[in-house]
Amino acid sequence: MTAEIVSVGTELLLGQIVDTHAPTMARILADCGIGCRRRQTVGDNLDRLVEALDVALARADLVVTIGGLGPTQDDLTREGIAAALGEDLALDPDYEKTLREIFALRRFTWVESNIRQAMRPPSGRFLENPNGTAPGLLCEKGGKIVIALPGPRNEFNPMAEGVVREYLERVQGGKVIHSRTLRVCGLGESLVEEKVRHLMQGDNPSVAPYAHPAEVHLRLTASAGSVAEAEKLLDPMEAQIRQLLGNAIYGINDQTLESAVIDQLREANQSISLAESLTGGWLGMRLTSVPGASDVFRGGVISYTSDAKKELLGVSEETLRQFGPVSEVCAREMAIGCRERLDATIGVSLTGNAGPTSDTDGKPVGLVFLGIAQPNQVQVWDYRFRGSREDIRQRSTQIALVKLRECLLEVDPTS
Ligand code: ATP
Ligand code: MG
Repeated sequence: MTAEIVSVGTELLLGQIVDTHAPTMARILADCGIGCRRRQTVGDNLDRLVEALDVALARADLVVTIGGLGPTQDDLTREGIAAALGEDLALDPDYEKTLREIFALRRFTWVESNIRQAMRPPSGRFLENPNGTAPGLLCEKGGKIVIALPGPRNEFNPMAEGVVREYLERVQGGKVIHSRTLRVCGLGESLVEEKVRHLMQGDNPSVAPYAHPAEVHLRLTASAGSVAEAEKLLDPMEAQIRQLLGNAIYGINDQTLESAVIDQLREANQSISLAESLTGGWLGMRLTSVPGASDVFRGGVISYTSDAKKELLGVSEETLRQFGPVSEVCAREMAIGCRERLDATIGVSLTGNAGPTSDTDGKPVGLVFLGIAQPNQVQVWDYRFRGSREDIRQRSTQIALVKLRECLLEVDPTS
């Protein structure tokens, strides 16, 4: 079974609200083993809505609409569905009665436009909306299914997760589409793709790479009768990918790079401290977002000015004068300084020019130095990042975690 989602609302097209419901719906479809082939967004305009529904119904077995079920003149989804199904809307007297009772009970003033909410295409039935007056719609006609859900979050979510999910599970007969994500760092997207390309030809399970800043995620997806069966299909595929990528895979599903690094530090019996300049504590924030980080994270110094680097970390006057704060030597002294002063086994430093405006002291925007001080060695790497100030700062924290992970892979836990 294939599906399409049609989100309805001019406010979505104007960028005034973000469509958060369509991804929710897409996940529910995937959970139920239904391939969502396309998503469309249309404004509150009957002609364009009918056009969108016509093409969706021509291509897919199931169409889910989101929004536009209210009582006002711009809520046109009911009319659109009826037209696309070649039907006329008819009043459902039972629901009209229910609606009038709801209004009386809540002491809402009845206005005649409310009657619109009791109209439905004859092939459809109403789906109860426990949190609103506009019911959803479920139409089955000529082998096609149309489901219409209201827009407000407190109405959409319980209906999508409740009555709609149950219905889809039933019509689909217990099929699932289940994914697992392998998270890779230290290798570029094209290199990862080259290594696993021959596995990407497969259909079930399928493998697809997604690039993130200094990370690549490989999504493995299987379609099967149950999650357990899908997992069984994914296991051998994961094993093959692990053979190809080895240590570059740092985590699975939602595991973050920072939590993988915290685990490594704990296993290697190491502790860490930070000296951050351009990232202003961002790296510390990422590490401390992991529960239990205190096992290994000693603390950090946000040494933004040259004075702070000198006073809090012991960077020498001479270094700052001769090379400047954005320099290999300064990064080295910052890493050593925080390692010693915070009594950690590993000290990590970041200093650089995050921009956006100009080069400072001849140091171009995006030039970043990363220092890692370990008991037996101090290493410094330099990078030229591009992008906005935020990009440069984010990439700096990311590369620090990637390099830290590489260093820790080499640490002998017994020494
Ligand atoms: P109402 O009875 O409130 O008019 P409705 O079913 O007609 O409900 P809309 O008028 O389309 O729904 O949208 C009402 C509100 O629901 C929007 O202003 C927005 O806050 C939210 N909403 C609608 N569609 C979406 C969506 N796709 N994603 C997230 N929020 C949405
Ligand atoms: Mg509305």
